[in-house]
Amino acid sequence: MGYVKWYGHAAFEVKIDDKIVFIDPWIKNPKSPIQNIENLPKADLIVVTHDHGDHLGEAVDIAKKSGCPIVATYELANTLQQKGVNGIGANIGGPIKAAGLIIILTPATHSSTTGVPTGVVIKGKETTIYHAGDTGIFATMELLGKMYDIEIAILPIGGHFTMGPYEAAWATKIINPKVVIPMHYQTFPVISGSPEEFEKFLKELNVPTKLVVLKPGEKYEF
Ligand SMILES: [Zn+2]
Repeated sequence: MGYVKWYGHAAFEVKIDDKIVFIDPWIKNPKSPIQNIENLPKADLIVVTHDHGDHLGEAVDIAKKSGCPIVATYELANTLQQKGVNGIGANIGGPIKAAGLIIILTPATHSSTTGVPTGVVIKGKETTIYHAGDTGIFATMELLGKMYDIEIAILPIGGHFTMGPYEAAWATKIINPKVVIPMHYQTFPVISGSPEEFEKFLKELNVPTKLVVLKPGEKYEF
């Protein structure tokens, strides 16, 4: 059995096929229940969607502590390599195998300093998870949902820099996952979107997907 555990903001710990994967591990974010990476389980893999500080977070330190690689866009992986970690450079749409899982970086309509911003699809035997990274809505999300049979979608709802609740509800409708987990909201006042508004728009749009709202530190088990 696996799980998706939220540390607040965009930081997740996923257990899938008995592998521990951290996505955008900004563990020291203001909402996180854990402020010391020594309290995290050993990681098998880390994925960083883009190089903004609220996503790169403590990825380098966690990789060094766990001795695991970091998957990121080619340019970002090269930068991480210079910091003494094993950076696996990938690019959008190209499936790679890492830690026995299939990892596919996806497009994201956002910005970054190094490389390009991405989301990620993690495909294991147990399930398929899509973490959208920081992004606005884009039509290809529908194709990703169909192609990869996405079961769990993790979508930003905070607005301002990413989709807000309305856009995220539309994204859920076109991806059509079994479960949607909102992220990237209310870490700071400016990203004010709420799960309540998200739920309201999901209902208005007749989206059948199950909404799972986690508190930082909580996990959804699958
Ligand atoms: Zn962000």
